[in-house]
Amino acid sequence: GGDTRLQYQISLFGADDRLLVARDITRLTQLEQTRQNFVANASHELRTPLTVIRGYLETFLDQDLPKPLMRGLSQMQQQARRMENLVQDLLLLSRLEATSRQAATLKPVLIQSLISHIHEDAVTLSGERQHQFELQIDPQHDLLGVPAELQSALSNLVFNAVRYTPDEGHILIRWWADAKGGHFSVTDSGIGIEARHIPHLTERFYRVDDSRSSASGGTGLGLAIVKHVLMRLGARLEIDSKPGRGSCFSCHFPAELVVPPRD
Ligand code: ADP
Repeated sequence: GGDTRLQYQISLFGADDRLLVARDITRLTQLEQTRQNFVANASHELRTPLTVIRGYLETFLDQDLPKPLMRGLSQMQQQARRMENLVQDLLLLSRLEATSRQAATLKPVLIQSLISHIHEDAVTLSGERQHQFELQIDPQHDLLGVPAELQSALSNLVFNAVRYTPDEGHILIRWWADAKGGHFSVTDSGIGIEARHIPHLTERFYRVDDSRSSASGGTGLGLAIVKHVLMRLGARLEIDSKPGRGSCFSCHFPAELVVPPRD
């Protein structure tokens, strides 16, 4: 583009940081910018045709058509929905990447009501699988953040717990604040994750078990979104998991972001 500012990556080495290495990353930064723009444009362009396809499918499904045809149509509708979710996540992620170096405009987020909405959606997602939800929410403290971004980050963690926990499993959602800051965690009694996968989970499209994950309805972008949302707030994601026992995903927010009780 027109932006030709030079970019350098500066690293310090040696015992007293006596060696300074400057690397010209101008070209790399431009390439990264091109990639981000491409993803943003492509996902935006995919939205319109998908909306049209979904509209027609809905009209057809409202009619009294032969059974095999209905089955096919409802499969198509399901896959179109999946694609829409994917496009939505791609757009969100590319926006997050584009703004990651800017300071976010922070607003108080009513965390108790946010979590109760997420809980409702999680119950719907669980459906007949009957997961047992438990909520431990400190109602005294709210959190500063970008509401829509926090909503998608926290819901991704809760929906993952539903996806990767067998029927009737237990899911604990917690929010609390202490001297160190604000903490949100989701603990499940699910399938768990082997230690060697944990460092890679926030990479785009990284999946432990591809067949299981795509059947579960996720997009493979959930944890990448979580990572970017938290990064922008200076918050940290911690993952603790044992295969066959369950997982705990926790977000730790800096104390400056915790809104104290009014009195
Ligand atoms: P996906 O859409 O595949 O769920 P995510 O980025 O949200 O993508 O998660 C990446 C991978 O991490 C998943 O495919 C799954 O293998 C693993 N994972 C995420 N959450 C959990 C969980 N609560 N329990 C077990 N595995 C999980």
